[in-house]
Amino acid sequence: MTNRILGLHHITAIAGNAQRNFDFYTRVLGLRMVKKTVNFDDPGTYHFYYGNEVGTPGTILTFFPWEGVTPGYAGTGMATEIGYAVPEGSLEFWKERFSQYKVQLGETGERFGELYLPFQDPDGLQLSLTVPKAGDNRKAWTTTAVTEQAATKGFHSITLTLKSIKGTVAVLTEIFGYKLLEQEGNRYRFVTDAVSNAAIVDIIEDPAGKIGQVAGGTNHHVAFRVADDNILMEFREKIAKRGFNITPKIDRNYFFSLYFREPGGVLFEIASDNPGFAADEPVAELGTHLKLPPQYESMREDIEKQLPVLQ
Ligand code: ZN
Repeated sequence: MTNRILGLHHITAIAGNAQRNFDFYTRVLGLRMVKKTVNFDDPGTYHFYYGNEVGTPGTILTFFPWEGVTPGYAGTGMATEIGYAVPEGSLEFWKERFSQYKVQLGETGERFGELYLPFQDPDGLQLSLTVPKAGDNRKAWTTTAVTEQAATKGFHSITLTLKSIKGTVAVLTEIFGYKLLEQEGNRYRFVTDAVSNAAIVDIIEDPAGKIGQVAGGTNHHVAFRVADDNILMEFREKIAKRGFNITPKIDRNYFFSLYFREPGGVLFEIASDNPGFAADEPVAELGTHLKLPPQYESMREDIEKQLPVLQ
């Protein structure tokens, strides 16, 4: 396996009501819940993972749902738009579906020669569906309502909005192996050739932009993918050498992680493919049981009492 950064691993955001979040992502958007667990740092709250059938890195969007959370603000110093790849010709289907479910949606537009449709989840989190120029050969998770003709394939891109891009660009190009592909106005598109999907980071430079506030309906962090935890530690050394404060290796049960704040203010994580989401339940049953890490298993009864029941 390559010792490079393999595009995006997952993106983590903050939601309000758990049921509303679950309904939107599994029913309206048609994703699979691949893991229902708790916030390892706050086991009285859920941590939801949505993705494709097996939870392939590059398809994983995760949420901490906190009932009554204050709405955040998507401004500078944060990830401001999550892009999913969809099949050619599917945007009309999505427009109709979003209208039917009263989803906040914008106008279809074009970026770097690709059609996209911006929309928001019920907490105001900004997402978009893009038809990639080069296609996308990943197998989508499908439902009766969202079939193969329209289903999301996983991430297309993440957009970061920054006051100044210089330091972030250095991390992306000098450490992570991304290259500048194109620029449109104040939007810069960076891409890695290590993978063919979930390979894009867009950066918007907005020097006068209001600073973002991480809370409900905003992104908490962006995780980049590596093949395993040995390569993870190689990156830890490279990043520490550049003077960044980076955490030790953290065991997230389904992957190993490192976190550091990049110079533009966004919390970056690097996460490994191993051991994956089938580590504690079979693929056919992913997301159907409340899974707890070993340190909380003895508290299961209390934890289950605190968590809202999902319908
Ligand atoms: Zn994470």
